[in-house]
Amino acid sequence: MFDPNIMPKRINQAAGVDLVKTSAVNFYEGVSQDEVEAFYNKMKDPNDNTPISYGLNSKVVKENGVVTEHVYKVGGMYSPAIERIVSWLEKAANVAENDQQKQVILSLIDYYQTGDLKKYDDYSVLWVQDLDSRIDFINGFTEVYTDPLGMKGTWESIVNFKDIEATKRTEIISNNAQWFEDNSPTDKQFKKEEVKGVSAKVINVAILGGDCYPSTPIGINLPNANWIRRDYGSKSVTIENITDAYNKASLGNGFAEEFMWSNEEIERAKEHGSLTGNLHTDLHECLGHGSGKLLPGVDADALKAYGSPIEETRADLFGLYYLGDPKLVELGLLPNEDAYKAQYYSYLMNGAMTQLTRVQPGKDIEQAHMRNRQLIATWVLEHAAESSAAELKQRDGKTFVVINDYEKVRELFGQLLAEIQRIKSTGDFDGAKNLIETYAVKVNQPIHKEVLKRYETLNLSPYRGFVNPVYKLVKNDQGEITDVTVSYDESYVDQHLRYSSRYSALPNNN
Ligand SMILES: [Zn+2]
Repeated sequence: MFDPNIMPKRINQAAGVDLVKTSAVNFYEGVSQDEVEAFYNKMKDPNDNTPISYGLNSKVVKENGVVTEHVYKVGGMYSPAIERIVSWLEKAANVAENDQQKQVILSLIDYYQTGDLKKYDDYSVLWVQDLDSRIDFINGFTEVYTDPLGMKGTWESIVNFKDIEATKRTEIISNNAQWFEDNSPTDKQFKKEEVKGVSAKVINVAILGGDCYPSTPIGINLPNANWIRRDYGSKSVTIENITDAYNKASLGNGFAEEFMWSNEEIERAKEHGSLTGNLHTDLHECLGHGSGKLLPGVDADALKAYGSPIEETRADLFGLYYLGDPKLVELGLLPNEDAYKAQYYSYLMNGAMTQLTRVQPGKDIEQAHMRNRQLIATWVLEHAAESSAAELKQRDGKTFVVINDYEKVRELFGQLLAEIQRIKSTGDFDGAKNLIETYAVKVNQPIHKEVLKRYETLNLSPYRGFVNPVYKLVKNDQGEITDVTVSYDESYVDQHLRYSSRYSALPNNN
């Protein structure tokens, strides 16, 4: 496990090598990238207008010289764990909030029992249309970030409930979705003529599971299938109790004072950082991912390994561009025309500098979201150099991001958004590769060294995780459930030990 020569990297995204063979993830065994691509290309019909998410729930292996799939389902791979998921879903179906939610749960069970990706689409279509339930969930092999080829889903689940007050914010955004689409700086041919069903809400998570635990996203937009988004829209959430915890934990720990240029930025961050950060997530999830369209005949997987970071870049830029739009003040989403600057500053600072605290010395950036943030920050800083709209400045031997002209920075976000949308809409693989390899992968070594040294003095952790609350049923003498209590006293270690003793259903070797 500690031998640096054995499977040294979980996901390799380096250009020009076999990404399957050089990645340690166990989505593939004994096969090459070419074999995997050939295997799926044979299944794909370029004229299929509603394609399944090929390969989402399986491992690709070679048996007796033949490439084949082991499908995750009841009776297939991971069966003991999936049987338990199904048994809990069956219980949930019996206490569903309404009939529609019950149908959603039953169709998910159907998918787990068959492993049929057509049924997964059926489930996703039902799920995306359930907008009335106050309690909702995500459950399945979902995000594809950990697959070097961007096809294989890792299992995740959250159960959540709607934050009705905060949701008013996202309702304003989604009610104006068409205005945002029409006024974005992208080329007209790449815009959606009609934006469908952008449903956005603010939620609080009640429990995190699978790939969402202990470290969790702060916003989610699903389903991922392009054609379902096109025909049925998507459900987008911002997770308020998580972002609130992050914000509270980051106040007063010395971070802003160390890395921000002046009191002006620090004060603005304190006053507007939380709101503008959440608004950026709202815009990213609720409009960004749902915006734009592919030109007819463009393969959704055309960008291959560059697809994930390009998609995140697109969504982030859409949010950044509109944060600085006076329309947000007009809609009552921002208190004044200066507030957005808080997010602009912290975004560039994070993308160009402080997110490097998460990277070991000498290593490249691998994670899709980190790649997208560095791409945006370094591209903007480079293109802002001539006008000095934004720059890296030295003071007392330390480097800082300085923004001199926020309006101009906003224009640059718009320019890059137009180019990223063109790449996505036309499936321009070389364009994607060029941008990612130039701006997103390699780390500025002197800055990296400096950031790590300054960060070390603050004694902070670069990542944060969460402990789930412990829920206990309260029953009366007749054994009926009368209440559920919530406690927050379990430690992180105790929780993991309890989970592994009570819930590990799989053998060590799969
Ligand atoms: Zn995203």
